[in-house]
Amino acid sequence: MATNDRRGILYVVGIGPGASEHATPAALSAIADAELVVGYRTYIGLVQHLLTGKEIVQTGMTEEIGRARAAVERARAGAKVALVSSGDAGVYGMAGLVFEVLREIGWQRDQSPDLRIIPGISAINSCASRVGAPLVHDYCAISLSDLLTPWPVIARRIEAAAAADFVIGLYNPASGRRTRQIALAQQIIRQHRDGTTPVALVKSAYRELEHSIITDVDHFLDYEIGMLTTVLVGSTNTFLFEGYMVTPRGYANKYTWDGEVLPGQKPAHSLRMPSGPANE
Ligand code: SAH
Repeated sequence: MATNDRRGILYVVGIGPGASEHATPAALSAIADAELVVGYRTYIGLVQHLLTGKEIVQTGMTEEIGRARAAVERARAGAKVALVSSGDAGVYGMAGLVFEVLREIGWQRDQSPDLRIIPGISAINSCASRVGAPLVHDYCAISLSDLLTPWPVIARRIEAAAAADFVIGLYNPASGRRTRQIALAQQIIRQHRDGTTPVALVKSAYRELEHSIITDVDHFLDYEIGMLTTVLVGSTNTFLFEGYMVTPRGYANKYTWDGEVLPGQKPAHSLRMPSGPANE
């Protein structure tokens, strides 16, 4: 039950990869509207200039449950609260935890707080933009953090994604103490990809000390990979061009560069393969 008549607002805000240029206007106005801003120290730092006059609750990385509960409770009691995540709050971010807290306390949609989830540019997208166009065909995101997920589950997903030829974005690839997972991931991926398949390592996209490297499946472990890195592993179709990493959409399967339709193909019809009953 709300403790006063005012219905609070809980904004769950993704601020994008870095400072405000890559936050959406909606994210910025949610923060502007909030009386209380809650978030992990680094993300609060990224939007510091927007916070004058506001109450701020900033905590360390391992205090997520406390942060989500504090945000929910204050908003439930009538405050306008912005809970800030980097990237998109719904991608390895605080949005899921907010719902778990709300479920735990038996919140219903017509009660305080009014919930507003504001999307942000997730690391997979911001990092892709730094190295070309690696996500133009099917891709997936896998977090290598086994702090909350058992490693065998993560390994099974890497295996499935590699076998199915997805471009793979690896979040949380390593930290100071956690270095084993990225090496195991490389071994699994190598079973399904040539060693020369492009891999991008993008660190701190759109932040200070940003750094990107394009390398390949056989060599990416030779470079520093840490908590601020996202690893993008190409599919079997991904290619390098002028230092960019590109995954083609598939136009060349159907058209010439003059716009002619290739023999045996029809625009707006399923791609025909050279032979095989499934394509007849
Ligand atoms: N909610 C965030 C992800 C949080 S998980 C989002 O949607 O982007 C934290 C991981 O995200 C990091 O370990 C790193 O892999 C990735 N990441 C977040 N911000 C990044 C940035 N600016 N540059 C590169 N990787 C980033």
